[in-house]
Amino acid sequence: KAAPGYAMAKLIIRFINGIADVVNADPDMDGRLRVIFLADYNVKLGERVYPAADLSEQISTAGLEASGTGNMKFMMNGALTIGTLDGANVEIREQAGADNFFLFGRSTEEIAQLRGHYRPWEWLGNDPLLAEVFDLIGQGHFSQGDTERFRPLTDQLRGADPFFVLADFSDYLRAQDAINATWADRRRWNLMALLNTARSGFFSSDRAIGEYAERIWDVKPSPVTMTDGPVPT
Ligand SMILES: *Cc1c(COP(=O)(O)O)cnc(C)c1O
Repeated sequence: KAAPGYAMAKLIIRFINGIADVVNADPDMDGRLRVIFLADYNVKLGERVYPAADLSEQISTAGLEASGTGNMKFMMNGALTIGTLDGANVEIREQAGADNFFLFGRSTEEIAQLRGHYRPWEWLGNDPLLAEVFDLIGQGHFSQGDTERFRPLTDQLRGADPFFVLADFSDYLRAQDAINATWADRRRWNLMALLNTARSGFFSSDRAIGEYAERIWDVKPSPVTMTDGPVPT
């Protein structure tokens, strides 16, 4: 989803569709990988996506997203999470156990330390793989040869990168390698998935509301006597 006036978010969505054009037309990807952008994402779509997922990607930079609830829905439905220490990912990892969560990226404190003297173009210069990605985009590989379409995206990443995406990139790839190795060990993967579902009970709304009542609202439960007759008003 993206607000209509948020030009960069709209361009990112266009980029996802550009990647889809390339990947989905590649015969080597037949039966292996499809890139699909779900337009007008809503609960009906969510009901199909959460149970179907094997891997939940919660890749917002640490300290930059308040919470996240989609991550909990994926966890409950048996997906494993690749995530930063951001928002509710922190609690998901605590509940699932560090061994059952694919952690990557810098901490909130490390990101705070980068702020003010972060020079993303230097990170780009020091990472040949990242430079290759930028070259591919710049050559129009995902835009039918149009070398300008995604320039605002790459220019912003190279020049400012306000979300510190480049700083976390190589560690993200490292975590994806660990995921590939785990996926090949089906018993291990299934065990991790089972533990994620089993330990997701913490995110029950009963527990959450109970804590609010005790710690924030300072209200006590009011016992309700069940009767066979009409409920008194
Ligand atoms: C859960 C949910 C969200 C929120 O997802 P986050 O990952 O927490 O941002 C948004 N839309 C729908 C339809 C959802 O089910």
